[in-house]
Amino acid sequence: MNNAIYNFPLPQNEPILEYKTGSPERILLEKELLRQTSETIEIPLIIGGIEIRTLQTGEVRMPHNHSHVLAKYYKATEKEVSEAIDSAMAAHKTWSDLSWTVRASILLKSAELISGKYRQVMNAATMLGQSKNMFQSEIDVVCETIDFLKFNAYFASRIYEMQPRSAFNQLNKMEFRPLEGFVFTVSPFNFTSIASNLNMAPVMMGNTTVWKPATTSLLSNYYLMKIFREAGLPDGVINFIPGSGALIGKQVLQSHDLAGIHFTGSNKTFNSLWQDVALQLPRYKSYPRLIGETGGKNFLFVHPSSSATEVAVNAYRGAFEYQGQKCSAVSRMYVPASLWTSVKDELLRICSEALMGDVMDPSNFINAVIDESSFDNIMEFIKYAENSEESDIIAGGRGDKSTGYFIEPTIIVTSNPSFRTMEEEIFGPVLTIFVYGDDKLQETIELCNTTSPYGLTGAVFAHDRVAASAMCEQLRYAAGNFYINDKPTGAIVGLQPFGGSRASGTNDKAGGEFNLIRWISPRTIKETFLPATEFRYPYMID
Ligand code: NAD
Repeated sequence: MNNAIYNFPLPQNEPILEYKTGSPERILLEKELLRQTSETIEIPLIIGGIEIRTLQTGEVRMPHNHSHVLAKYYKATEKEVSEAIDSAMAAHKTWSDLSWTVRASILLKSAELISGKYRQVMNAATMLGQSKNMFQSEIDVVCETIDFLKFNAYFASRIYEMQPRSAFNQLNKMEFRPLEGFVFTVSPFNFTSIASNLNMAPVMMGNTTVWKPATTSLLSNYYLMKIFREAGLPDGVINFIPGSGALIGKQVLQSHDLAGIHFTGSNKTFNSLWQDVALQLPRYKSYPRLIGETGGKNFLFVHPSSSATEVAVNAYRGAFEYQGQKCSAVSRMYVPASLWTSVKDELLRICSEALMGDVMDPSNFINAVIDESSFDNIMEFIKYAENSEESDIIAGGRGDKSTGYFIEPTIIVTSNPSFRTMEEEIFGPVLTIFVYGDDKLQETIELCNTTSPYGLTGAVFAHDRVAASAMCEQLRYAAGNFYINDKPTGAIVGLQPFGGSRASGTNDKAGGEFNLIRWISPRTIKETFLPATEFRYPYMID
C-alpha cells in the first residue's frame, strides 16, 4: 500500500496544433478523415464493459452531407437502462474504495492517449459527426478534453488536502466520500469535451455514471468511451447508453439510487429533469445533486470609444464559429449609432469573404448545423425576421438542406430591443443587432441586462477603460463569463472557469474545484483520545 501524500502539479494547457498544409498533424488528420469516411461502424451500448446490440437501431449521418452514413447505433430499451443502473451500482464500491491517485492516473492516461495516439481519430470523428472544421475540432475534442482531464486531477488533489484543524485531545479528519448512488450524465451534441467532462468529473471523485450521450455526437462519444476503457477505466464505472432521452431519463429518474445529474444542454430539458426529480423526491436515498449548464443569449455591448474593426472581427467569430452552436456564442449586439456604419461595413466585408461548406475543405470557415430539426428551427427564426416590420436582414438569410444542413451566417438589424431574436436562444448562425443612440448608453446597458432570461456569457468593447469598468459593474449578473475587449466564446480550462447563472444553469464552473466539490459528500470524523469519565461539567463541581 503506497501511503504517500501526493499532489498533482498544476498542468499546462494542451497546445493547439496549427494544421498548416503539409504539416505532420495535417497529413495524419487527412488520412484519418478518409479512413472514417470509407467505413460505417457499429456503435453498441457498453454496460459493465459488455457491448450490447438491441433490436432498435438508428444511424449517424454527416450533417454537411446527410446521405453519408457514418455509423449504425443501437438504442437502449427499458431493459438496458435497468442493467446500466445495476452495473453502475455494482461498480461503485470498488471504484470509490480505489486510491484517488489511481483514479486520477486513468484520467491522465486518457489525456495522453488523446494527445497522441488518438488525436486524429477524435478530431476526424468530431469533424465528420458534428460538422466542425479542423480548428474548432482541435480546440474542443483535443485541447479542452485533455485540459479537463488533467486539471481535474490537479483540482481533486487540492480538494483532498483540505482538512480541519485538530484541537486539544482530539483528531479531526474530513473524508471525501463520493455520492451514495450513481450519477446520471446527459451530454449535448456540441462539445465532445463536455461529454468527457460530464462523466470524468464525478468519476474522478469516486462516482460511477449512467451516460446518455446526444444522438448527434455518437461517433466521437463512442471513441471517447473506448479510450477511457483503454486507459484502464474498470467495467461499469461509466455505462454508455445511447437512445431516446425521454425514455432513458424517465426510467433513470425513478431509481432510488439516483445521487446526482450532471447535465449540459437546453434549458427546457434541464427544467424538465429538475421538475421530475422534485416530484419524485421521496423516492431517493439522498437529495440528488442537480448540476446543469444550459442555454444562453449572449451579448456583445459596444461602447462609442471602441474600434469598429475589433468589434466586427470579434462579433463575427463569436457569433458564427461552429455555426453559432456554442452555448457561449454571441447572438445579440448593441452598437452606438456613431459607430454603426463602420461596424456594418466591416461585418459585411467579412461575410463576403468567409466561405461555407464541407469540413473536408479547410478553406471553409462555416460548416453545417447539426441536423434537420435544428435547421428548420433556425430557418423559422430567420423567416420570422424576414416577415417582420421591426427588422432587416442585412447579411445571409438563406438556408439549403438538400445536401447538408447549411445556413448562411445571418445578421438581423432590429429597431425593437425586445425583438424575439434579441430574447430567445436560437442556437444557430444568427446575430441580431440593436443600434442605440449614443445619448442612450445607460438605459441601453440596462436593456441588455434585462432583455433575456439567460446569464451565460457577455462582452463589452471599449477603449475607454473607465467606461468598460462601469459596464462590467452594471452587468454584474448578466453573465457568468464576462469579457472586456474579447469575444465571449473560447473559455479555456484553468484560465476562465466556465458557467452562467439565471436561466443558464447552476453555474458550477466546469473544470474546477467548484464543480468537483458537487460530486462528494464529505464525512467529518472526530476522534477523542481521552473520553470523558465524569458526567458533571467543571462548573458543577466545588
Ligand atoms: P438538448 O437539451 O436538446 O439535449 C441535451 C441532451 O439531453 C441530449 O443528450 C438529449 O438526448 C438529452 N435529453 C433530451 N430530453 C431528455 C429527457 N427528457 N431526459 C433525459 N435526457 C434528455 O440540447 P442540445 O441540443 O444537445 O444542446 C444544445 C443546448 O445545450 C443549447 O441550449 C446550448 O446553449 C446548451 N449548452 C450549454 C452549455 C453550457 O456550458 N452552458 C454548453 C453546451 C451546450
